[in-house]
Amino acid sequence: MSVEIEPPVKKAKTFANEDDYCNKIIDKCIEDIKNSQKNLEPVLSDDFQKSIPLIKVFVGIIKDPKDLSRTVLMLNEKIPLKELQHLKRIRKKEVILCPTNFIIGMSSIQQYIECNVEELKDTFQYFKELDVPLSPPKVKQQFKEWNKIWSCNFHPNVYLEKLVSGNFFAPTELNLHRTYMEIAFEVSRWYILHLNLNTNEDDVFRNINSAVIVDPTTQSVVAVSFDNRDANPLQHSSMLAIDNVAKTQNGGVWSTEDINPDRTLSGISEELLNYLKPRYPSVRFGARKFISKCDISSDEYNGNPSDGPYLCTGYYAYLIREPCVMCSMALVHARVKRIFFCFDNMFDGALKSKSKLHTISSLNHHFEVFTGFL
Ligand SMILES: [Zn+2]
Repeated sequence: MSVEIEPPVKKAKTFANEDDYCNKIIDKCIEDIKNSQKNLEPVLSDDFQKSIPLIKVFVGIIKDPKDLSRTVLMLNEKIPLKELQHLKRIRKKEVILCPTNFIIGMSSIQQYIECNVEELKDTFQYFKELDVPLSPPKVKQQFKEWNKIWSCNFHPNVYLEKLVSGNFFAPTELNLHRTYMEIAFEVSRWYILHLNLNTNEDDVFRNINSAVIVDPTTQSVVAVSFDNRDANPLQHSSMLAIDNVAKTQNGGVWSTEDINPDRTLSGISEELLNYLKPRYPSVRFGARKFISKCDISSDEYNGNPSDGPYLCTGYYAYLIREPCVMCSMALVHARVKRIFFCFDNMFDGALKSKSKLHTISSLNHHFEVFTGFL
């Protein structure tokens, strides 16, 4: 006898379901983001870390201090320091001669000097090996540390100093960033309920991800998205967000159930927009009017500074979770200006946890990355 087992009936969730566990977690995250007193932290390249990369050099102690300037002039001409330009060549009676690996194949530094700058063969009393900073200091704090080892040349960069100050964003800016991150959580909540997803605490902290793309010049939310990798392995939230931005520019390859007839609002589903607007009455939604290359090349186009940009040029992306390599590269290609994320992604995060893609100098576009919402 066969027994028919009825499939479990999924309990429909509603926005009013206050007991829902996931709802509560999202509420807590939003509350914590709202009440946070911390400034956001930039994710900077490893060059900003405190440990000093060192290189071994030969230093010559000069016999007669009167010979110092002549000696340095000759050394600069015959044995330039090239990659070590940030180092001052002289410290009292000591002169940096060259990195120790320069003398490979020779018996001593004396022989190397005799071969390369014969005029200086009797200039030095003795030689020693020293560790000196390999790279230039980036900020004042590093400059102080580097100088304890060897005197360096340094020109402070006002912007970098502000970045590392721990006080980068003014309170009004911080409130805006927090609001957009809250919206990312609201987008997740809406999708979880809208798609009737079964979620638990782990999902909120490890799996769910939403993106909010903001045009900071108009302070307007241009597009949002919710991770859909279960249905399509490419549809991570950042990838979908970029596609949704493209929809505001007559593009986009992934279909959406309800493309908004108003193109500038086509980066956000209409139903979701109706959910978000009353919750964030002071937030603007929609992209600037898109002008295509054809329009720009037409005779009638006069050029309007309010016209929208190419893909995400100048835009900010707010992500619940640190993006993976694929998403991070897509955000590079899309020319995003800044990325803000809430949770580290220890599994495959490409902007802090596993690598710092935005600090690779050979890439042709670089965005800034901030975290520390919670
Ligand atoms: Zn991804």
